[in-house]
Amino acid sequence: MNNKPKIGVYVCHCGINISHTVDVEAVAEFASQLPNVRVAREYSYMCSDPGQALIREDIKNEGLNRVVVASCSPRMHELTFRKTLAEAGLNPYYLEMANIREHCSWVHGDREKATAKAKRLVAAAAVKARLLEPLQEKEVDVEPASLIIGAGIAGIQAALDIAEAGFKVYLVEKTPSVGGRMSQLDKTFPTLDCSACILTPKMVDVASHPNIELLTYSQVEDVSGYVGNFDVKVRKKARYVDMDKCTGCGVCAQECRLTGRIPSEFDEGMGKRAAIYLPFPQAVPAKYTIDPERCLMLTRGKCGKSPKCVDACGTGAINFEQEDEIVEFKVGSIIVATGFDVFDASRKPEYGYNDYENVITGLELERLVSASGPTGGDILIGKGDDAYVPKDIAFIKCVGSRDKSVGNEYCSRVCCMYTAKLAHLLTEKIPDANVRVYYMDVRAFGKGFEEFYDRVRREGVRYIRGNPSEVFKRGDKLVVKAENTLTSTPVEDEVDLVVLAVGLEPRRDAREIIDILRLSQSGDRFYMEAHPKLAPVDTATDGVFLAGCAQGPKDIPDTVAQAKGAASSALVLLSSGKVKVQAQVSHINEDTCRGCGYCVEICPYSAIELVTVNQFGHEALVARVNDALCKGCGACVAGCFSGSAQQKSFMDGQILPQIAALGVMR
Ligand SMILES: Cc1cc2nc3c(=O)[nH]c(=O)nc-3n(C[C@H](O)[C@H](O)[C@H](O)COP(=O)(O)OP(=O)(O)OC[C@H]3O[C@@H](n4cnc5c(N)ncnc54)[C@H](O)[C@@H]3O)c2cc1C
Repeated sequence: MNNKPKIGVYVCHCGINISHTVDVEAVAEFASQLPNVRVAREYSYMCSDPGQALIREDIKNEGLNRVVVASCSPRMHELTFRKTLAEAGLNPYYLEMANIREHCSWVHGDREKATAKAKRLVAAAAVKARLLEPLQEKEVDVEPASLIIGAGIAGIQAALDIAEAGFKVYLVEKTPSVGGRMSQLDKTFPTLDCSACILTPKMVDVASHPNIELLTYSQVEDVSGYVGNFDVKVRKKARYVDMDKCTGCGVCAQECRLTGRIPSEFDEGMGKRAAIYLPFPQAVPAKYTIDPERCLMLTRGKCGKSPKCVDACGTGAINFEQEDEIVEFKVGSIIVATGFDVFDASRKPEYGYNDYENVITGLELERLVSASGPTGGDILIGKGDDAYVPKDIAFIKCVGSRDKSVGNEYCSRVCCMYTAKLAHLLTEKIPDANVRVYYMDVRAFGKGFEEFYDRVRREGVRYIRGNPSEVFKRGDKLVVKAENTLTSTPVEDEVDLVVLAVGLEPRRDAREIIDILRLSQSGDRFYMEAHPKLAPVDTATDGVFLAGCAQGPKDIPDTVAQAKGAASSALVLLSSGKVKVQAQVSHINEDTCRGCGYCVEICPYSAIELVTVNQFGHEALVARVNDALCKGCGACVAGCFSGSAQQKSFMDGQILPQIAALGVMR
């Protein structure tokens, strides 16, 4: 091809997103006068089929060999336009985009100045376009297996979908059992299905599916590699119980010296367990685990004359010598389904959560109403002979949600409905109870939600609009202090039980996975999706997807839907068998590299290594980039002292003239 630049410039209106603030006709007219520009056009939506057809036709008819699209962010449509170029037979990397939407029309109000800036951006893009070089995309094979981190309902659903499609799944769960938060729930809104009844069959399925390798009580320690070829290292923590020998009979727990003395995590600390335990009756796998921080043998090396659990176990399953095991495997895709934590109610001290035993959270009430809970489903507050059935019950909504004072501006999306559900269950269990709900708004947005909210009110639950300022004790009663904002009257409501509808938060250990997979967090600190609308299950790391509450608060139907979305994205990758890797990678000039190794240190993708080469007749250490691992972030280029590292399409010789062109226009 005659490589004398022949540039086509295409200025997009983006409906009125750009044209409202930028005079697109003037920008196109200006572009047509720029050196090497053969054709310049404006069009309402360049990304539409007719818009792309314009570009394709000009490439063919006008012999264009460079294209500048002045529109939105390259994050949005760079791939679209690269494809357009490829379809017209041009190397897709002969494309340069000028972002005149996010960088111009959306951030400026003055039409004249915005138009002037758009012209400068287009002129600079045209200068760079002249200097672009063709790049070749490489393809690598995809390992036909998937890693799923977290076995709540999101991880379980994604695992089943991928396994059913015939691919191997490694499902890694941190705790001794799969099930996540859903296993702690009694009934589920708005249909009041029994949570265990719909979840347990799926828990059993993941454990027995021939394509799923379940790694419970395990944690991902390291992930290296790249899309299609991730190397994973998982630590299987010692349970001190031989899984093959344990029959789950439970005699060990009955005999344990600490039986009934350790707060059960599953029962939110309201029930007690032994040091050797099954988290809950339907746990999968139904195998016991010894708590290394509580067991007397493991903490003190001694438990009476001999550990009673060992004496009681008929199969000899208990093994205090057991050690953590490292399991390594390769996968092509990863789904992060690590879920959420509930808001720590003690961060709202005005509600007395730490002070009064009859101030509890919604999740604690879930365990109280559950037949498998610490009271067998009876609503009893207090212990032993002092335990009583509460009659006056107040819910306080939005505890830790929509609350800037605790750093959570977002709505947790499930509290309105789980409050309605729990209020309904209380009126069912305590027919003469007076239940009221203090609320700011009621968000009953999902299928069947509004109807359920209506039903609960018809059943006698009172909704009082007002955000309580305080809960304090007066005699035997708790007082909820609020203002009824509908009647503008102050309220001091005497009750026996306060239930705090705590919101959902990112997990407190969320950082672990961020560090391992280089994920980003959005403003609410949940893991960030690649695009909130168009790529809601993808992440910025290719081949890594999100499912469930790890990405943001959601109810079970939305969690399952997103898990299915993540599974299908993973399957597209696995079933295609090949994946294209980034072409705009970094390249190191081995003749000038001094082998200082700084780029190796700062590369966030571990894509660079030092190798020994013959440099002008001498052995020398130089840095070399693994193209498959490089993400083209440019960190090495910025850090390189000798200027030997350069990123393709962003070389000094391309970017500096582009910047200079911006300056000339000033
Ligand atoms: C009080 C309350 C009541 C609710 N009631 C309802 C209801 O009635 N109906 C409804 O639709 N929704 C309800 N919800 C919401 C429901 O709980 C969630 O939609 C659902 O649990 C989300 O599932 P998940 O798999 O995304 O997360 P989770 O259930 O949190 O599961 C995540 C799993 O990942 C594991 N994990 C975390 N980190 C790691 C790691 N690093 N490595 C390995 N494993 C890890 C966790 O141990 C856990 O098993 C309620 C929520 C609350 C708080």
